[in-house]
Amino acid sequence: MSEKTKDEKNGKEDDYVTVRIPKELSEEADKLIGKKGFKSKAEIVKEALRELLDHYGEDKHFQMLNRTSDGAKVRDVKLGQVADIKITPEGIYCPICDASNCEHIRFALDQPDVKNLIRRKKKEGWKLPDA
Ligand SMILES: [Zn+2]
Repeated sequence: MSEKTKDEKNGKEDDYVTVRIPKELSEEADKLIGKKGFKSKAEIVKEALRELLDHYGEDKHFQMLNRTSDGAKVRDVKLGQVADIKITPEGIYCPICDASNCEHIRFALDQPDVKNLIRRKKKEGWKLPDA
């Protein structure tokens, strides 16, 4: 938990964390300073990270519709379909993908109430993934 120590040290900079990156990568980034409107390395790193996060933000094409007593309904906006995910003693199942591990299930497992359900059922011996 070195981040915490850093925060404690620089009390004023609570809104910032320190991340260590390989020297090689840092030197590559340095080459961009002064180009493309970048004034500092921090700016370059920020921009790169922002782009990556936007990319993974594509997850937003899933919407949690509701949790049922034996599963969860996840709308896949891209496919225009609803994944009616089933949670049974034998495991978790997505009918759209015919799979027990797919992006719909991973999305559902990110939802706090689904997590709770899974944890509860796991204790009862259901064969479910970690949540
Ligand atoms: Zn699926």
